[in-house]
This record gives sequence, structure tokens and C-alpha cells, in this order.
Amino acid sequence: MNTPDKALKIAVIGSGPSGFYAAEALLRAGLPLQVDMLERLPTPFGLVRSGVAPDHPKLKEVIKVYDRIARSPGFRFLGNVALGRDVTVAELRAHYHAIILACGAQSDRCMGIPGEDLPGSHTATEFVGWFNGHPDYRDHAFDLGREVAVIVGQGNVAADVCRILAKPVDELRTTDISEHALDALAQSRIREIHIIGRRGPAQARFTPRELRELGEIHQCATLADNRDLRLGERCETELNDLQNGNAAKNCALFREFTANQAGNRRRQIRFHFYLSPSEVLGDSRVEGLRVARNRLEGPAFAQVASATGETTTLNCDLLFRSIGYRGVPIPGLPFDDHRGIVPNAVGRVTDGDHTVPGVYVTGWLKRGPSGVIGTNRADSVETVTHVLADLTQADAVEKPGGDALEALFPARGTRNLSYEEWLQIDEAEIERGRPHGKPREKFTRVRDMLALTGHG
Ligand code: NAP
Repeated sequence: MNTPDKALKIAVIGSGPSGFYAAEALLRAGLPLQVDMLERLPTPFGLVRSGVAPDHPKLKEVIKVYDRIARSPGFRFLGNVALGRDVTVAELRAHYHAIILACGAQSDRCMGIPGEDLPGSHTATEFVGWFNGHPDYRDHAFDLGREVAVIVGQGNVAADVCRILAKPVDELRTTDISEHALDALAQSRIREIHIIGRRGPAQARFTPRELRELGEIHQCATLADNRDLRLGERCETELNDLQNGNAAKNCALFREFTANQAGNRRRQIRFHFYLSPSEVLGDSRVEGLRVARNRLEGPAFAQVASATGETTTLNCDLLFRSIGYRGVPIPGLPFDDHRGIVPNAVGRVTDGDHTVPGVYVTGWLKRGPSGVIGTNRADSVETVTHVLADLTQADAVEKPGGDALEALFPARGTRNLSYEEWLQIDEAEIERGRPHGKPREKFTRVRDMLALTGHG
């Protein structure tokens, strides 16, 4: 089996961080392997391209690492090929020795409250995808001609949403933010942004660096209420734990914010704690948010929000729900609907008590949406260790691999793009950005990317 012409053929589904780290771990294994990476968009890099905020360019430098992996012998990119649309899981299993799902968490958790879907209420996925030029969200509209926005959730995605709403648009002009978003943000009349947490300041999920940035936005006052910073004994226990340094730093920042005044700044960000949304108010669009006041219950490090019975209303025109992402089910495979992941045992996909032979999962679809980009490296190494252990034990069955798979595409109208074709798109985007002083101007429509590469 381990001869070059009978290489192990492995398909990685998804080209974000977890997919690239899985490919890297496979290619470093010292075995004759062919790794085919399938990606539903013509462009690679997943959330690094369409999730990382445009004003955080350093985080995108990891693309250089992925680019090196993509240029390695034994690697092939099959862009514009969607699992479920262009190929099925059964077909992939027939063509490859193993498939590794690295599709991330492409959807959002629901609040499950009345009015959640009123016009003016948006998910973080929609807003982040929109300003980052993801083709799925290109035509979403956000009415930024309003004054008051509420963001639900206190994690780093909420911080990204808030920063893009609050920053002076001129500071975004030389980033890779999409032109349509820049145009809309230039007309923005947003004055107040309220960020709501269901628990307290000690439980906010921001990393201190991201929280500090919110306090440094030009012409923007960042405010918190002193009363929310009177923490109980269990919160103090949490803050005194050296393993929980982020929480202590966050609370120090929130304390600084309590001393700030709105003054005549152009915008203000206000943090609210111990509030759970219970209803989005409005007849034909968002007019307000009813929230229930909470107290914390339970032991330190496991404190949960519990309703006090008191409610209040926040008037607002726009709502952004940033309460965590979730994976989407893959036809033909089991799904844990509660956790929004593909059920697995350390990366081996499971169906009840059984493992599904030859099918693996990594990244956010494996463990849920947590950690930073680099967290996915160890996660993918873990999955790949099991893939390789199973494969070297497996019977030597030949699989037709990617050439045979590609041969199916023309009849289906699937036009797959190679990595070289992505590099053409990359070069054209960089060229489009140059006159505007931007690192790139992304193509936001798949048809334009296909036309550029001669697949129009
Ligand atoms: P997150 O960090 O898990 O934060 C989710 C927030 O939503 C928490 O405040 C959570 O509160 C709240 N929440 C959850 N369910 C809720 C409900 N039903 N009602 C009200 N609030 C609710 O998720 P995220 O912000 O989406 O970030 C995902 C991951 O990406 C994180 O690991 C994050 O650090 C990472 N990320 C990193 C960066 C960066 O490094 N710059 C940027 C973006 C994202 P509880 O704590 O009470 O559950």
C-alpha cells in the first residue's frame, strides 16, 4: 500500500485553519499520501479570510503558513466544490481512504425568544461575513442609518462587531474590508452601542487585548456602571485564580471604563451585565429589547445566570446576536444538535456507540467554537494521529482518489478551481486594492471569481 502509486488518499473538507493544520499533519507523517482539500468557495482560508476582522491584519499573516502547506507535493486544492451540493459523503468515502471534516461552525446559536428574526435583528455571522466580503452575505442589508445598536454576547466576536460599528470609517479605509461595507459604514449614524452579558464582568469572554481596544477607539466613550463592578465573594475567588488572568484583567479594564464620561464624543459603547434578552420588541422591525435581570448562582467557576423576575426594556433600532457559533449538519452523517457539532471520539466520527469508518472531524465542528486560530493545530494533530493509526491498520484497498472524483464534475456543472487559479484571484484582488491603499479588494461574488479564472 505504501508505494507512491498507491498513496493513501485523504480528503479534507474545508480550507480554514483546522483543515490546513490537518493537511500539514498528514503531509508531515512521512507516508506516501495524497491530500485533497475540498472547499465550497473558490477561495481558501475559511475564517482567516472571512471571519478575522479587517483591522486585525496580523492575525491574517498565518495565511503564509497555509500557503506553504498548499504548495507542498501531495496537496491538491479543489475549490468551489461543496459537500452536499457537488459531492456526497458516500462518494467521498468511495474515492478516499479517509475523509476529515473541517467545515467549522458556519451558523449561529439561537436566543430562542420572540421577535428574534424581526428586520433589524442580525446574527454575528451575517454582519462579519458581510464586512469581510463573504459571497453568502454580499447582499445582506444593515440599516446603519439608525442611532442605537445592541449587541448580545460578550465574546471576541461581539468585540469585532462593536469595533467595526464604532471605529471612524477612515481608520478602516486601508484595511481589506469590502468596499460595499465601507460605503455603508461611511453613512452610519450609529451613536450608541450597548453590549449585553447575561453574567457579570468577571465572566465576560473577551480577551483583554480585544476589550482594551474597545476603550481606545477615537471619538468614542467606553462606559460601564460602577454598581456592576461590586463583585461577590465567588467572583473574587475566580479573579484571584492565576489560571483566570484574563478575567482579572478584564475587570480592571471595566473598572477604568466606569470612570469615563460620554462627554461630547461622537459615539459611545456601554457595557451591561446580568441581563438576558427575553423578547425583541417591534411591529415591523426592531424597536427595543426586553431583558430579564439576572443574579449569579452556583459555585465559583460554575456560576450561572438565574432570573430575578425583574425585567426592563432597552430601546434600540438594531440588534446583533453574537452568542456563539454552531456547526451545520452534513447530510449522511450524524449530528449532535444540542452542541452543534459532529459527534466524535477524539476526532473519529461516532454514531451512537459505533465509529463511522473512514470519517473524521477536526476544529470547531469537532469541539465547538472555542479558542484562537492556533488552538486548531493541536486539535487537528490529534485527529490526524487517529486517522493514521486506523489507516496503517486498515486493509490495503485501493481508492480511485481525486482524479476520478474530478472526472464526475463536468456532468454536474461543477467547475472546480485549483490552487493556481486561487493565486490568480489573489493577485487580482491585491491589484484591485492597490489604488485605494488597501492590501486587497476582495471579489465578493463567486461568478466574478469564476469569470476571472476562465470558468465563467
Ligand atoms: P464566545 O467567546 O463563546 O462568547 C459567546 C458569548 O455569548 C458569551 O458572553 C456567552 O455568555 C454569550 N451567550 C451564549 N449564549 C447566550 C444566551 N443564550 N443568551 C445570552 N448570552 C449568551 O463566542 P464568540 O465571541 O462567538 O467567539 C468564538 C471563539 O472565537 C472564541 O474562542 C473567541 O475567542 C474566538 N475569537 C477570537 C478572536 C480574536 O482572537 N481576536 C476574534 C473573534 C473570535 P456565557 O459566558 O454566559 O455563556
